[in-house]
Amino acid sequence: MPNISSNQILLWIERYAAKIADQKDYLTQLDSAIGDADHGANMDRGFQAVLAKKAELQNGDIGAALKVVAMTLISKVGGASGALYGTFFLQASTAAQGKSELSASEFGSVLEKGLTGIISRGKAAIGDKTIVDALQPAIKAYRHSVDSGENLEQALSNAVSAAEEGLKSTVPLVARKGRASYLGERSAGHPDPGATSTLLLIQSAAETLV
Ligand code: ADP
Ligand code: MG
Repeated sequence: MPNISSNQILLWIERYAAKIADQKDYLTQLDSAIGDADHGANMDRGFQAVLAKKAELQNGDIGAALKVVAMTLISKVGGASGALYGTFFLQASTAAQGKSELSASEFGSVLEKGLTGIISRGKAAIGDKTIVDALQPAIKAYRHSVDSGENLEQALSNAVSAAEEGLKSTVPLVARKGRASYLGERSAGHPDPGATSTLLLIQSAAETLV
């Protein structure tokens, strides 16, 4: 099975930046319903700054590239999402340090490290109406698929389906973490903005890593 190259990782990040730019207004609209109407703007500011560092992302070391993404998000994005996605990429980078390519299983470890980072930083669990509701099932599905011998394309496709289900599951939930939790019961009936941007991240991977 062919490995994931450092160039494909760059394409993944670029595709995600493009999707965020495209969905910026929608993400902000979702955040205006249960937050402070800045999720699209936050993510777009961060990923436009990441795109401006393309030369640094191209150095061939996947860990180093993911670390540039992390540090850029942490420094450019105010708001919970900057710290959380920043932590995701920072922890992910440690699992890819010094690697110029990743097997499907190694990419799973990169994602798992990132998820662990988000959970230890934000303390959210499934059902709290956050990024974790889309990210955790997606990564679990990916791992299950790879471990049962399915190919990368199938594993990523299963991850996308799980992220979609996870995002859908956030709609009826009452938020227990982040700004939306201040709304209490009024946060129910809306998709979570961060789970929505997480689906875009997984979709971008499925479109660029195979
Ligand atoms: P802010 O809430 O500071 O305005 P954003 O609007 O950019 O930041 O991001 C909001 C998103 O962050 C939420 O939709 C939710 O998915 C995510 N989020 C907030 N708190 C947490 C947390 N503790 N753990 C995981 N995700 C969280
Ligand atoms: Mg917000």
